Amino acid sequence: MHELSIIHSIIETASSELARRGNRHQIEEITLKIGELAGIETDSIIFLWSAAVERTPLENAVLNIEHIPGKARCTECQQEFQIAQFYDPCPKCQSHFIEILAGEELQIASLILEDTANPESKMPGPALASTHSR
Ligand SMILES: [Zn+2]
Repeated sequence: MHELSIIHSIIETASSELARRGNRHQIEEITLKIGELAGIETDSIIFLWSAAVERTPLENAVLNIEHIPGKARCTECQQEFQIAQFYDPCPKCQSHFIEILAGEELQIASLILEDTANPESKMPGPALASTHSR
């Protein structure tokens, strides 16, 4: 399943971040940014999450998901507008020549790590390669 492989790549990325820091941390909380145009079923992510992260560094982490709405700019009239899907035309001139500005994201927005020496440190999350294909 698509969503399961996404979770696995998140686990892999988080694990390698921990390894880079000497495996001294626990992950307390993870925040994912998921664009509405990324083609990802958030419900499936949530549904599959707890079984998928068992016996991984994310096992006890709280999962947060931020939704990024789709946003585009018309390349004909420069109008910026919200879109729900790639095929939505410009609401002003009906052009289909649009540029996607936001909504294709799939990334770890942040990881909150617990360190015995340094109780809480928040860091920006590493970018995941987008799994979306048009
Ligand atoms: Zn337009």
